[in-house]
Amino acid sequence: MDAQFFTAWIEEVARAVGANRDHLTRLDAAIGDADHGSNLDRGFTAVREALAAAPGGTPGAVLSLTGTTLIRKVGGASGPLYGTAFRELGKALGSGADVTLAELASGFEAALAGVRRLGGAAEGDKTMVDALAPASRALSAAVQNGTKAEEALDAARAAAEEGAQATIPLQARKGRASYLGERSIGHQDPGAASTALVLAALHAVAAG
Ligand code: ADP
Ligand code: MG
Repeated sequence: MDAQFFTAWIEEVARAVGANRDHLTRLDAAIGDADHGSNLDRGFTAVREALAAAPGGTPGAVLSLTGTTLIRKVGGASGPLYGTAFRELGKALGSGADVTLAELASGFEAALAGVRRLGGAAEGDKTMVDALAPASRALSAAVQNGTKAEEALDAARAAAEEGAQATIPLQARKGRASYLGERSIGHQDPGAASTALVLAALHAVAAG
């Protein structure tokens, strides 16, 4: 997977976030402050522009620029968290022109570790970690089993989607939604939902 592949991934994320902007905002309206869709849409629109202004580069550079731009443009909790995830992923991929599936899996582990370090959320706290952690595990397991890229990324996509759905019955223990206590139960976490979109975009690009 080369820089063109990762650029196509981020462009697909930007498209999916735009298409799901109102849906994400509705999820955040239920248990937050109704800005998750607009936050991410603003961020990924800026990322698109930043990538267009800096063509070429390596997979690591594409993802680091994505992360840095998100930190700069997206406020709230999700900007620094998403930004850190992409920056850690970019850093883990190093400066090579091509990335193997095993390297990508390690990169996702680094991204997850960065989000956990910054946000302090564990699985079950009803955050983006509930989608990112199972996706990372599924990807690493697929690499261990020698699974081909498209199938491995489909497993990561499915795990993220399942993790996002599984946030519905949970009570939030981190972020704004935690202020609601038991009233956060029965609603999907917006950050877990957007993380599932990010993983779906990665599989879509791999599937061609
Ligand atoms: P804000 O909560 O500042 O309005 P957003 O609405 O953009 O920011 O993002 C909210 C999402 O951020 C939540 O749905 C959750 O997934 C994620 N989030 C919030 N706090 C944390 C945290 N401490 N760790 C991990 N994810 C978090
Ligand atoms: Mg919000």
